[in-house]
Amino acid sequence: MVTVDIALPKCTGCAHCRDVCPVNVFELRPSSSFPDNVDDPEVGAKFQFRGEKSVAVNGPECIVCEACLFECEGECITIVDDEGNTHHSTYK
Ligand code: SF4
Ligand code: SF4
Repeated sequence: MVTVDIALPKCTGCAHCRDVCPVNVFELRPSSSFPDNVDDPEVGAKFQFRGEKSVAVNGPECIVCEACLFECEGECITIVDDEGNTHHSTYK
């Protein structure tokens, strides 16, 4: 089973992942839903945190098209495919 993980402190809420995913893996929720989260200052120096965080609500549906991995400005998505290979996001 494919797993999709998001490092919340690095997620800016840009929604790029949700917008490009063909199988609706991602959902954006208010940052206030994650009171223990502390935003990553290195990401904050480059991008604006937008008050939302992405949650992988349909990870098993992921077809590993990799679209989200190139659009994630926080570089915070990690996907492990059916063969156990790990795919990290790298912002273009
Ligand atoms: S790699 Fe998976 S989660 Fe990312 S856009 Fe493609 S189907 Fe969606
Ligand atoms: S693309 Fe990355 S930074 Fe943007 S909302 Fe999705 S997980 Fe967060």
